[in-house]
Amino acid sequence: MNILFLASEAFPLIKTGGLADVAGALPRALIKRGHSLRLVLPAYQSVLARLRSDDKAPPLSSRGQIDLDGTPVKLWQTRLPGTRVTVWLVDIPAFSEREGNPYVTPEGVDWPDNDQRFYTLCRAATELAMGRAGIKWKADLVHANDWQGGMVCQLLAREASAPATVFTIHNLAYHGLFDYQTMHRLGLEPWLWQPDFLEFYGQLSFIKAGLVFAQRLTTVSPSYAQEIQTPELGCGLDGLLRARQEVLSGIINGIDTREWNPNRDACLAASYDRRRLARKADNKKALCAELGLADKPDTLLLGFIGRLVEQKGLDLLLATLPELLARGDVQIALLGSGVKAYEQAFAALATDYPEQLSVTLGYNETLAHRIEAGVDVFLMPSLFEPCGLNQMYSLRYGTLPLVHAVGGLKDTVIDGDDPLTANGFCFEPATVDALRVALKRALALYQDPEAWQQRQRNAMSGDYSWDRSAAEYERIYELALEDKK
Ligand code: ADP
Repeated sequence: MNILFLASEAFPLIKTGGLADVAGALPRALIKRGHSLRLVLPAYQSVLARLRSDDKAPPLSSRGQIDLDGTPVKLWQTRLPGTRVTVWLVDIPAFSEREGNPYVTPEGVDWPDNDQRFYTLCRAATELAMGRAGIKWKADLVHANDWQGGMVCQLLAREASAPATVFTIHNLAYHGLFDYQTMHRLGLEPWLWQPDFLEFYGQLSFIKAGLVFAQRLTTVSPSYAQEIQTPELGCGLDGLLRARQEVLSGIINGIDTREWNPNRDACLAASYDRRRLARKADNKKALCAELGLADKPDTLLLGFIGRLVEQKGLDLLLATLPELLARGDVQIALLGSGVKAYEQAFAALATDYPEQLSVTLGYNETLAHRIEAGVDVFLMPSLFEPCGLNQMYSLRYGTLPLVHAVGGLKDTVIDGDDPLTANGFCFEPATVDALRVALKRALALYQDPEAWQQRQRNAMSGDYSWDRSAAEYERIYELALEDKK
């Protein structure tokens, strides 16, 4: 299949969030399955600068021009570093001549021309997909992502013999909303301004262009695919998603299994795998020493890594952990940054229990690896979680995740009595009481080393690779092609 994969970010070229991880990994897995794929990104200034100045970066070459109604737009070709994925960078001046974040100004407000920038990107992608840019390659299928890529689905819906389209929601909270004037600025046809199409409560919604016009819709876990059809988590789009439920599916993201491999992780004090689980204890010891926690191998060590924001369920943790610390039941290693009030609350708690609770404020990739390997239980009491990555890193590292059963957490963490399947602990609903009960169960199981190790082995046997997810995307692509016939 010829696949054009359109994204506004892709690791390692440019990253602000989870979309970059998907766009950096899924194309590679699809190529491995034999597809011909082009990853289309805006030619951000920082990306061009890095490719030009770094000797080790893949070569950057001109790939001609795309004609957008008489306006030529330059196209660059390169590779995604460390892969064989061909990348086409669309050189729109509003991207290539501007420094900073892809979406917002240094003051944190949306770039005022985001409508034009991303619409132009979608028009360029349409020309590339249709094989009209002077390149002998035409897409069978376009996979667009989040609101930035939504309009390509609408543009292709107007074309004869167009490729099929698949649209993926990575974060339904961002809609790409613009005022009515954008209709005129972009020259959109008036009929699109209707609630059945692109209008969203008096605004123009780019994400609706994907949700309404794509042949198939996906999001990043089966449970989240259900949850976004409810008023609670549907962000005002649940009605539309319910209407399209037949074509909406959830596919769990993979993780980078080279980067996250306890047997080959240069950050760790001791490497280990399923058969050499005892060596995990060396990492616990080293982590406690590094963080200034008391060396207590038999005390349950809990971990948390992530953005310190309400979504991550931090209020539940702040309501539950003090009593466990006071009783001396647990130790905790926390790494993260975000909302000041949370940072201060955890820092204050750490001063009360310096040998039991370590709080590291900031972003630290190496410490993240050491926490994943060193702790016994990884906490993710998120209120909602489209997919979540940390629980999968934890499973792979034999660190049992303790999660609120929601979104991707519910789909990856298995609790219950079956010793052959359980790989962690789940609680529901998102209340202090439910979390307390789950923590008690974890403490109890920790007293039974055999049962604990069985759960660890179950966790470490799971397949969290992109190969599995890529096979599922491939199936959706095939369905989209059939729908298009
Ligand atoms: P979200 O995308 O909502 O932030 P995910 O669990 O999907 O949550 O992904 C978060 C990623 O960012 C994980 O890889 C996590 O390890 C990493 N991360 C978040 N905060 C930090 C931090 N302070 N230091 C190191 N890694 C972090």
